[in-house]
Amino acid sequence: MKDFQYMVEQFADLRILRYKIDGFESLPLRQKLYIYYLAEAGLSGRDIIWDQNNEYNLWLRSCLEYIHGKIELSDPDFDLFEEFYKRVLFANGLHHHYSTDKLKPSFNTETLNKWTASLSKDQVDQLGCKDALEVFNRLSKHLFDNSHLSKRVCQDEDKDLVQNSASNFYKGVTQKEAEDFYKSQMDEQNPEPVSYGLNSRLTKDKEQIAEEIWKVNGTYSKAIERIVFWLRKAAEVAENEQQKNVIDLLCQFYEIGNLEIFDQYSIEWLKEQEGAIDFINGFIEVYGDPLGFKATWESLVNIIDQEETQKAKVISENAQWFEDHSPVAINHKKEEVTGVSMKVINAIMLGGDCYPASPLGINLPNAEWIREVHGSKSVSLQNISHAYEMASLTSGVIEEFAYSAEEIELHKKYGALADHLHTHLHECVGHGSGKLEPGVRSDALKAYGSVIEEARADLFGLYFIADKKMMALNLIPNMDVARAQYNAYIRNGLMIQLARIEQGANIEQAHMRNRQLVCKWVLEKGAQNNVIEKVEKKGKTYFKINDYLQLRQLFGDLLIEIQRIKSQGDYDAARSLVESYGVQVDKHLHNEVTTRYKGLGVAPYSGFINPKLDAIVNNEGAIIDVKISYEESFIEQMKRYNTEYGLLS
Ligand code: ZN
Repeated sequence: MKDFQYMVEQFADLRILRYKIDGFESLPLRQKLYIYYLAEAGLSGRDIIWDQNNEYNLWLRSCLEYIHGKIELSDPDFDLFEEFYKRVLFANGLHHHYSTDKLKPSFNTETLNKWTASLSKDQVDQLGCKDALEVFNRLSKHLFDNSHLSKRVCQDEDKDLVQNSASNFYKGVTQKEAEDFYKSQMDEQNPEPVSYGLNSRLTKDKEQIAEEIWKVNGTYSKAIERIVFWLRKAAEVAENEQQKNVIDLLCQFYEIGNLEIFDQYSIEWLKEQEGAIDFINGFIEVYGDPLGFKATWESLVNIIDQEETQKAKVISENAQWFEDHSPVAINHKKEEVTGVSMKVINAIMLGGDCYPASPLGINLPNAEWIREVHGSKSVSLQNISHAYEMASLTSGVIEEFAYSAEEIELHKKYGALADHLHTHLHECVGHGSGKLEPGVRSDALKAYGSVIEEARADLFGLYFIADKKMMALNLIPNMDVARAQYNAYIRNGLMIQLARIEQGANIEQAHMRNRQLVCKWVLEKGAQNNVIEKVEKKGKTYFKINDYLQLRQLFGDLLIEIQRIKSQGDYDAARSLVESYGVQVDKHLHNEVTTRYKGLGVAPYSGFINPKLDAIVNNEGAIIDVKISYEESFIEQMKRYNTEYGLLS
């Protein structure tokens, strides 16, 4: 078999990647079926997100698809059109998935007119227009009139957020009317409030404000009926009774539209921890609504990553050993510590708002009272982050910023393993380690608390990844893994992460601050012994680690100090450490890094093509196997989805 291709293509500001599901082929048929039905349910809601993003998106998608089929490859503007079409497909509509600004085509209206004129009578009819000119007029207004639909989610507080957002959550109502409507619904006394407005569009008709509910026999019925159909089939082959119960509640919610049922479903979903396969399917995140009431539709089908979950478990089970051997002061250690058990999962099918741009981790449900009473499920998507790492190996970033061929080699060999292990140490034992001195409040470090906390967990991981215990626990084959992690951490903390900061700005984000803090501190403290050396080669800056053992010692020293700061609630020391090492950007180096990074031409945003699942059916019509394949191109998959799951267009 040829090497798996993680990197597929790049256009505009987007990179398209593939992710892989190891071990799918050897799953028992019943689990394959469960995944297959959940995946179908997850793809059936595709058109909902398109319509939620903007009321014209589905029309626009058909229009662009017809034109794409008509333009000759020899047309000098074919590439311009195809790039725009692919950008719209990536964004699930006319607005950029991240900035929410309207996408601008690079072709002009004249060219567009030529293309729309070539549409067939049948296509013009399908688009609900009387002639090609009407198609052109409507399309050019959407694409070229900058005052029309300019922003999907308006965040400008000086404007009416509802009326200036192109998303399709409100029709004919003002921001004030929407806010008043939901204020009047809310019961402040209820300790278990539903998520008001989560699954509906708010409309006004003849002064009457009402909700159109997204449910069976309501808005989006055709898509939701199909989702329910596949969910019911999934329930028949579920792994356990609780999964059946969860699916049943979700179907009831889709059928009735009652948000109390949605909360019951969320609680039962939270409790289901036994099965290997899990899923999300529904109206979940509210970032697409400037008022934060309406949820976009999303889906994810996933399976536990046994190997990585096992590694995390080994670390978590040894939490007491780590605590006992940590370098921090004895009175800052916990006498008894329990590790956090973390579930590592692999994505199998992304849908709705999770596709093609995917999250890296999930922490649900969102309802605050459910989180307080019942907790939340937190998982990281292993194969998605792995695909990012593998694609970055071919992006040239390592070659650009690593000092030597040996460092590059080490990264390619152990970079991914080292990074995962560091994450496990950070999450499973790092955060949970250490204790406060009597009388110290957990919020004593105020605004500096989160940076100090992240630095503490990172340092815990950096210190122990280079411990012989890692080999004894069979987590690493040799100490080169720790060297790879030290190289990567220093390279990123002192250089690469600066590429994400705008010129002239300082570091704001807590994780970025903590990384720079750690790196600059060890750089300074190790200067006398030349532990880390700043080298210039052909006008480019590099950081080269000369002494890994001493570097580990320095990580340990900083861990002692940071733990002391936390344990004693030493606000002044926290502020001084963060402000001196974590915030200020070296302007000269920042400039150099930005230029070098830009020179690599790596697109800033990424998204994924799903694998294709095919049911193999015997003569009696029974499914005897589910085959997985990864051959589709981005545009092939998108067009297939438009056809097979185009339930609302
Ligand atoms: Zn953390």
